Parts: sequence; C-alpha cells; structure tokens
Amino acid sequence: MSLKELKQKIRQRLKEYKQTYDKLKEEIHLLNDQKRKLEKYLQELKGGVSTQRVKDLEKELGISMKNQFTRKLGILTYLKEMLENVDIKIQSMNEDLKYLQEILVKGIDCPLCNGAGFLWKKCTVREGNTLEEILKTKKCPLCKGGGKLTFKDIACDE
Ligand SMILES: [Zn+2]
Repeated sequence: MSLKELKQKIRQRLKEYKQTYDKLKEEIHLLNDQKRKLEKYLQELKGGVSTQRVKDLEKELGISMKNQFTRKLGILTYLKEMLENVDIKIQSMNEDLKYLQEILVKGIDCPLCNGAGFLWKKCTVREGNTLEEILKTKKCPLCKGGGKLTFKDIACDE
C-alpha cells in the first residue's frame, strides 16, 4: 500500500470516529432532554396532584397501570426506573465520547511505524574486507516522527 493510500484509509477512519462522536453528542443531548422531562414529572407527582392529572400523566407517558388504586405509586416507580436507566445510558455514552475525543485530539497510533515514530532500515556497510549488515533507524515518513496521526497531520496527500 502506498503512503497516499494509507493516508486515505486513515482519513476515512478518523472521519468515521468524528461522525460517531457527533452522533453520540446528539444522542446524549436528547437523553438529557428526556431526563429533564422525567424529573419534571417526578416533581409534579411528588408535589401532590389531582386524580385527573395522574391519569393524564399516565397517558402522556404512554403507560397503563393495572391497579387504579396504586396508579400514582406505579407511575412514581416507573419514572424512577426510567431515570435510572437514562442515567446509566448517559454515563456510558459520556465515557465513549471521552474516548473518541481523546483519539480525535491526540490522534491514532501511526500504522506505518506502530506509533514508534521511526522505522528500521537495513544497510550494508563495508568494514575493511567484510560487508556487515546493520540496522539503522529513519524517521517515519507518515507521522514525521510523532508516532500519532490526527486529521490535520494527514489532511493532504503531500
Ligand atoms: Zn509513523
């Protein structure tokens, strides 16, 4: 694979990371909206509401309590469980977001030198009458010695 093709491949990978990052951010935003809504309902129920309002809330939430005498308690339990689930989801998504952000800022390990920043090169040197093979290092042409690649590093094919 040529350096140009390698760059294209990494660009594509970083682009996908960025897309996932943006999508996650949007999903977290929506979940936070949902959380605020659930919290509002919870506060309303805890504050003492009319029987009619409890029935309306049941409809708004799209649930149906079998026992009308424990309807309020049932909705409260439902809301608390939903809130817990939303919190767990937000937390896990935030961890993924942090991980992706780190990759996008710090870059991925250069696939050519495996993040080392240099490549080994075999050379032959003459020592008197004998030829000796030695290993020399040379700066990695892809990451220019940095070992990491961000989108900016490989923005162009030069
Ligand atoms: Zn490299």
